[in-house]
Amino acid sequence: MSSKMEEHRHYFMYGSKLKFDEDSTHEFKGHRLISHADISNPKSFNKKQTNQTKLPRTRQAVSRCLCAFLNTGSGGDVYLGVNDEGRVIALKLSLRQMDHLLLQIAQVFDSFNPPVPNYMWWLAFIPVVTSRSEVHERLDLIQEWRSLKYDDVKRSVAHRFPSHGLCWCDVTQHTEMSHQYVVRIHLKSSKMKKSENNRLCLPTIYQCDNGKAYFRNCASVLGHTPQQVVRHTRDCIENHYQPIVDKLKEELKALLR
Ligand SMILES: [Zn+2]
Repeated sequence: MSSKMEEHRHYFMYGSKLKFDEDSTHEFKGHRLISHADISNPKSFNKKQTNQTKLPRTRQAVSRCLCAFLNTGSGGDVYLGVNDEGRVIALKLSLRQMDHLLLQIAQVFDSFNPPVPNYMWWLAFIPVVTSRSEVHERLDLIQEWRSLKYDDVKRSVAHRFPSHGLCWCDVTQHTEMSHQYVVRIHLKSSKMKKSENNRLCLPTIYQCDNGKAYFRNCASVLGHTPQQVVRHTRDCIENHYQPIVDKLKEELKALLR
């Protein structure tokens, strides 16, 4: 479980505003509905998935945004537990729910076409505190609690993905110790390599868990069908190779004269 997690000593203050807005590389989500199946299932719209009492049906799956960051190539960060205005509302999670979230995100990346390589992403659980006076005491406590118990998270029962209704780890949350977090999912940049020797290097286009390919445009996400992606790729290839072919034809004509 710990291999995909970056340890951070920093924290967020509950209710504070993040220093940046949503843009081409930052996205905020107040919920933890990761896959499209989570969104399409009304039972997963439970307030245990979020700190907001009401979750509009128009909310989008986190996977859509992860896909857009991958396809745009510049990478990016999705922050769960932060509302649209950029304020920290936090997600209250037990160790088992953290385990669930990490596994579900890994599973969603696996369901992309092609599957997303492991080295492309990591996630961090950043503690949220409610007052400055509790910062050190609380962060030490959380650190100690996590390091002591990570190895004790036994998966005797598999987590349920997608969350058709609540998973067992949500149902048992009230019996376990839990803390407030902002979850940061980081995607590395995969900027296209410069084309060399007239060869075109096309970026990998990932299809999301609903079959669509998403792209980031400033702070919004655009969806394309596979047919649109194929057409765009053909145009890229043609625009790249056609001038080279034309030049070779000219040279051939000159030689034959
Ligand atoms: Zn679970």
